Amino acid sequence: TALLRFAPSPTGPLHLGGLRTALFNHVMAKKLGGKWILRIEDTDQSRTVPGSLEEIQEGLAWAGLDYDYGPNRPGPHGPYFQSQRLDLYHSYAHKLVESGHAYRCFCTPDRLAETRERLARAGLNSTYDKACLTLTEEEVARRVKAGEKNIVRLNVRVSPCKALDPKDVLPDLIFGGVRDAHASLPTDPVLLKTDLFPTYHLANVVDDHEMGVTHVLRGEEWLPSLPLHRDLYASLGLTPPRFAHLPLLLNPDGSKMSKRNGDVRVKDFSERGWEPEALLNWLALAGWGVSTPPPSESEKPRRGHGNPHSRDASPLHEPRNNAPDSTTVMTLPEIIDNFDLSVLTHRRTVVDSTKLLNLNKAHIWRTSSTDAGLTSLAERVRPLILEAFPKAKSKYTGVDYLKQVIVVLRGRLATLSDLPSAAPYFFVDLLRDDAESRDMLTGISHAERQDVLTRVDSVLTDDAAATAGWTAALHARGVEGRAAMTVVRHALSGMKSGPSLPEIFDVLGKERALQRVDAALE
Ligand code: GLU
Repeated sequence: TALLRFAPSPTGPLHLGGLRTALFNHVMAKKLGGKWILRIEDTDQSRTVPGSLEEIQEGLAWAGLDYDYGPNRPGPHGPYFQSQRLDLYHSYAHKLVESGHAYRCFCTPDRLAETRERLARAGLNSTYDKACLTLTEEEVARRVKAGEKNIVRLNVRVSPCKALDPKDVLPDLIFGGVRDAHASLPTDPVLLKTDLFPTYHLANVVDDHEMGVTHVLRGEEWLPSLPLHRDLYASLGLTPPRFAHLPLLLNPDGSKMSKRNGDVRVKDFSERGWEPEALLNWLALAGWGVSTPPPSESEKPRRGHGNPHSRDASPLHEPRNNAPDSTTVMTLPEIIDNFDLSVLTHRRTVVDSTKLLNLNKAHIWRTSSTDAGLTSLAERVRPLILEAFPKAKSKYTGVDYLKQVIVVLRGRLATLSDLPSAAPYFFVDLLRDDAESRDMLTGISHAERQDVLTRVDSVLTDDAAATAGWTAALHARGVEGRAAMTVVRHALSGMKSGPSLPEIFDVLGKERALQRVDAALE
């Protein structure tokens, strides 16, 4: 059965690129009926950043990407930290030295630096001159015994791949054939460092083999390492797994996305109230190659989920015929349903933040259409409300109340974090008293205002009135027309726009609404 792995190094925060890699590992594992591992590649101790492991785990949990094995999820291939598997890498390095595919190198840092400069001056591509390859076995044994520091290098010249037909390319499931193991390896690569830790290459290949990984799905930045990995598998006499490299994600200006760190940290998205499913949806679609135009209005399926506010403005729609296009709204299970390796393209994708925004709105709408979804939105919005309105009464920050608020506001939110500023009047009784609020009443006379408010007051104090519904009750008292509605909206919310007045009445409740109307009445 299929086994995949997401193998981040704990050297910094989880970025969008990493989240996309994890997503496709998850999706592909589910699609193939297999499992996936979270493997922590912590072999470069000097680059380890405290807290990044936790941030990676939190990011995956927030996104709902559950790994089957990894830290805190024991399994048959553990331990899942490379720093706890050093013996294994030593034994493989030893095997390679024994078979002559690798050799020990005793060169000092100074000599290595000199050599690098000399070779560069001579215009050579290589950075090491293989000096230690000529040491006799006795010499090596003596120096090892004397405790001299050394590293292990792969001798690419004797690689079994060298004998292979150059046309015999290693196929990448997304990029196609990757050619030429040797032109890209001018220097014998280091496998084991002086601190006895393996390099990424050795540890990665050893673990993928030892753990029984069947598919390696990772970012395009690792494609140049593929020839070396291929050499390592061949030198060890092992069958390599299948490889699939995901194309780079680009900023609109064409630069690599990871360069603008501020915009790509997953934690920022979770803290700013984005929908995890929208982010996954967006990352899945970036690079989704099979692109069919959205169906025309007439043939568009109406399943009652879409956001009515954006349906006509943007071509958001639900998956259809197994061929989503770049705007299709999908939850994680739907991404899995629609996924097939052939949808992935090697074309680099420019990520478009407008698409993310549209997807986010659509996901808020969809999630809020079930009670469980609504509850989870309310739970996520709660800390944002508590932060924005520390003085809000506790009954206005409870989950049930927040659910009501979300239902009336959901069509107006780009992200959940817009909620506090979209409708502060649901949380605090002190209404806005700024220029915009006062402007609302321009052109409406004092007398007219008092008249409208008096009528509303009588609707609110008459118990029978609202049972037929606010709209009918207001009409019955002659509260109609734009100016009247503006007066009422101003008294209730102090804001120019928002949900319909009956919706605001419902959320505020009679008593609170009455207080506000009375306060506006002089
Ligand atoms: N540790 C590598 C990284 O941080 C993993 C590359 C791979 O998946 O082979 O991206």
